[in-house]
Amino acid sequence: MKRAEIVEFYARLAADNPHPETELEAGNPFQLVVAVALSAQATDVGVNKATRRLFETVTTPQQMLDLGEDALKQHIKTIGLFNTKAKNVIALSQRLVDVYGGEVPNDRDALETLPGVGRKTANVVLNVAFGAETFAVDTHIFRVGNRTGLARGKTPLAVELKLDKATPQPFRLHAHHWLILHGRYVCKARRPECWRCIVADLCAFKPKTPPPKAALPKEP
Ligand code: SF4
Repeated sequence: MKRAEIVEFYARLAADNPHPETELEAGNPFQLVVAVALSAQATDVGVNKATRRLFETVTTPQQMLDLGEDALKQHIKTIGLFNTKAKNVIALSQRLVDVYGGEVPNDRDALETLPGVGRKTANVVLNVAFGAETFAVDTHIFRVGNRTGLARGKTPLAVELKLDKATPQPFRLHAHHWLILHGRYVCKARRPECWRCIVADLCAFKPKTPPPKAALPKEP
């Protein structure tokens, strides 16, 4: 995609949703780390359902340690891989208490030393909690980047680095939210809804999906 097209692409997504936000519910950076760590291979809706009651009483790493692994499992047992995730959340809480004074560090390398926290989670936390211009490439962004031609790459890291290079101001802070939401609700995995896509004319994906029959106007 050419630079002018990239600007137009983001400008349309921005006009459509000027203040995009993460759909994960969290009241502070610690809760955000926990929510993102729980969200691997799970939907945000499912994570929110499980964390809503948990986050009423657990707002700090120490409170998570006081709650303990077994009680945490009871809260999150509706989420896939909950046993491993509970272990990681307890271990990352312990490390936050032991090494970082109970605070979530505003630093990529430090975040990635937390159990269960990889590059994508670190990017979400840096962006949402600390306002960094990072690009957390999940399955939706990976797909949208490749289909549209905005940022093609064989790995999430390759797509992330291309997005970082290609995304201009003033779109850098919210780019990852716009792309996730576009992938989740319009440029869907199995059947992208090209017929109602606001960036269709800029997108390189050739076999544009036609509208379903019910959406076509009736012939007179
Ligand atoms: S035109 Fe289709 S493939 Fe391209 S971004 Fe829109 S929904 Fe996705």
